[in-house]
Amino acid sequence: MSLDMLYQEIILDHYKNPHHRGLREPYDAQVHHVNPACGDEITLRVHLDRDTVADVSYDAIGCSISQASVSVLGDLVIGKDLDEAMALQEEFLTLMQGHGKVQPDEDRLEDAVAFAGVARFPGRIKCALLGWMAWKDATVQAVARRAATASAAMEEES
Ligand code: ZN
Repeated sequence: MSLDMLYQEIILDHYKNPHHRGLREPYDAQVHHVNPACGDEITLRVHLDRDTVADVSYDAIGCSISQASVSVLGDLVIGKDLDEAMALQEEFLTLMQGHGKVQPDEDRLEDAVAFAGVARFPGRIKCALLGWMAWKDATVQAVARRAATASAAMEEES
């Protein structure tokens, strides 16, 4: 089996049996992102527990690449330290923007390496990135909200 076929198989698996799908409580931030070029849409929630990504839940419609990609994202970042999860998001972004020339680190990106081939198709890159950009957006909002709550609590105490 060629690497391309193996990668297609991984993407199809996640598309058919998406992990972490469905919107769950509790959550700290929710975002809605669309990729009008393809008709992909995602609503995504992030729940943080201190500095850990406690949960990522979502509801998505659209092409197989966009839906498989967010399934893989959930596998990778749930349970991870916030800094580590952000670093993984950066690595995936670099891979997607690498025109198919970036060699992915399978030990770190796991099933996300299956999207390496997508980087050769400019029209599909936004599909693969949709869930990852939504996750980053929601996580930044969740962190900002927590910081605001913490400073409000400090002011009350003083
Ligand atoms: Zn798409």
